[in-house]
Amino acid sequence: MKLLENKVAIVTGGSRGIGFAIVKRFLEHGATVVLCGSRQETADKAVAAIKAENPDAAVEGIAPVLTDPESVRENFEKVKNKYGHIDILANNAGISARDSVYDYKPDDFQKIIDLNVNAAFYCAQEAAKLMKPQGGGVIINTSSMVSIYGQPSGVGYPASKFAINGLTKSLARELGKDNIRVNAVAPGVTNTDMLAVLPDAVIQPIINQIPLKRVGQPEEVADAFVFLASDMASYVTGEILSVDGAART
Ligand code: NAD
Repeated sequence: MKLLENKVAIVTGGSRGIGFAIVKRFLEHGATVVLCGSRQETADKAVAAIKAENPDAAVEGIAPVLTDPESVRENFEKVKNKYGHIDILANNAGISARDSVYDYKPDDFQKIIDLNVNAAFYCAQEAAKLMKPQGGGVIINTSSMVSIYGQPSGVGYPASKFAINGLTKSLARELGKDNIRVNAVAPGVTNTDMLAVLPDAVIQPIINQIPLKRVGQPEEVADAFVFLASDMASYVTGEILSVDGAART
């Protein structure tokens, strides 16, 4: 069953990891997808990888500067003008850091907030402006399991994901009247580049604490995005959906 036929989706951070899996799942479910990379080159590379498997895939790559509201506006407007509507925003681009608070550089804290929070706000704001006159849409933010209990170092990252939950819940309340649903997916430890930089000594104790005794795959997170983006979730808004094997501590 295809759940997203005739839908147009923008996926930020779509060039790799969880975002790339979301792009592929959305395509499998019949959506037209515009993926955003941090550079045009990485966006094009991701599109080429998809087209190598399926030359007819309805996908293109763009590279808005997500931390610049003007660039987001220009790029999202172009998408709406080209396809006529934007039905889904997967607000997924994000970065992480694990520095101790004693060494945390203010610039690094700012960098995390700029991308994980401010850019997510700019994208949600622009998407909502374009979705309202067309009668509605769906915004799905990428939170994290650390948005529930924090983490033992790298305070900027969980702080940014707590903010994402606040953005999600508040926008769901504000935009419901415009038929725009706003939800978040909170992945647990997921097998992407973000994880690959961590040493085994850090990962194994984490796995030991996960009731399902393994890390998640990006496709398992992407499936939650498909559900929330689809009409199967037509009465779900303001929800933070954990996809973490119950690893919530
Ligand atoms: P990743 O590092 O594999 O991918 C990050 C994506 O964000 C890439 O597509 C990259 O191009 C994009 N990006 C990074 N910096 C950018 C910038 N300055 N401008 C525009 N785009 C930029 O990471 P991932 O694991 O796929 O993470 C995706 C999302 O999932 C993030 O929001 C992350 O916080 C969240 N998350 C990941 C995990 C995990 O274990 N991997 C767990 C919980 C939440």
